[in-house]
Amino acid sequence: MSRDREKKPVPKAETYLKYGFVMIEHESYLCPTCSHVLNAGPNYQPRYCDQCGQKVTFAGIKWKEDQELGYAREGCL
Ligand SMILES: [Zn+2]
Repeated sequence: MSRDREKKPVPKAETYLKYGFVMIEHESYLCPTCSHVLNAGPNYQPRYCDQCGQKVTFAGIKWKEDQELGYAREGCL
């Protein structure tokens, strides 16, 4: 009966390199049921996980902008 219950996605901070040398922290959201990364952002939020069909709600989510953490130092790659 609770199969259609909405669940909140799980935030997960990830870092990646932009332009090959700028460290960026980006917040992703994972499906609370299967941990699949949801392709969501301020302008688009899926209503269901495309892997397991879990209904998700982004209500109340505060979107974080990508954060620059600094420059990756040469020689430490
Ligand atoms: Zn899922």
